[in-house]
Amino acid sequence: MATILEAQGVSRSFGGVKALAGCSLSVDKGSITGLIGPNGSGKTTLFNVMTGYVKPDTGTVSFEGNDVTNARPNKIFALGVGRTFQLTRIFARISVLENMLVATQRDESWLRGLTRSKSSKSELDAAMEWLDFVGLTRLASMQAGSLSYGHLKLLELAYVLVADPDVVLLDEPAGGVNLTLINEISEKILALNKGGKTFLIVEHNMEFVMKICDKVTVMHQGCDLVTGTPGEVRSNPAVLDAYLGSSDGEVSETVDHG
Ligand code: ADP
Ligand code: MG
Repeated sequence: MATILEAQGVSRSFGGVKALAGCSLSVDKGSITGLIGPNGSGKTTLFNVMTGYVKPDTGTVSFEGNDVTNARPNKIFALGVGRTFQLTRIFARISVLENMLVATQRDESWLRGLTRSKSSKSELDAAMEWLDFVGLTRLASMQAGSLSYGHLKLLELAYVLVADPDVVLLDEPAGGVNLTLINEISEKILALNKGGKTFLIVEHNMEFVMKICDKVTVMHQGCDLVTGTPGEVRSNPAVLDAYLGSSDGEVSETVDHG
């Protein structure tokens, strides 16, 4: 399989904290790749580096073979890499549909989406289409801040998908979500993946990861520790050690909100 998104030897410190220490990760085109590891192992920082939100001290990031190491977030987004945030970026005080219309603005001129009197017909159609896909059509006019946590996660998924990115990075899409919705989210991801979309997913819910991922990379203390199939990773002693040595305890089926 061809690599679509890749980080090589990425390091990044914050003050004295080495969040990433020579971390490499490659995402195959058309795959669902999982990124797991104890809290604080650097998963979100790696996402931030791969999407231009944090500059690495050393190392490179490439997308479809082109170097994007120091590219700005809106550039990487425009190339076709979409993402969600561990802490939501949904606007609480506007409606679900208005959030989707903000998402149709492809770059940082998104603010115009709030001030413009009218979105185009095609933007509105796209917004409604993706709301329908995640099953939120009937909540379109509801204030986003009053959504349940699970519905908020579905809105985040629709929000990132409306721009039709080639690669979608999801930071804990199942975190704090009930089992029914977790299953719904995994079905949506699998359906999109069948249609050719590539996913890179950080998630603590092991059942979710094991069910949908083709390949999993385990991070530990800012480095990629092991990469393999879900089954290989799960039975790897080094992985068990990494989790046991952390406050997270063992690799479990439980949902962790870290
Ligand atoms: P994970 O997502 O695996 O839980 P993070 O990437 O969020 O891990 O964090 C890795 C380490 O880097 C943690 O020790 C965290 O406190 C630190 N860190 C991450 N971002 C920052 C930042 N902006 N400023 C200071 N420390 C940070
Ligand atoms: Mg994180």
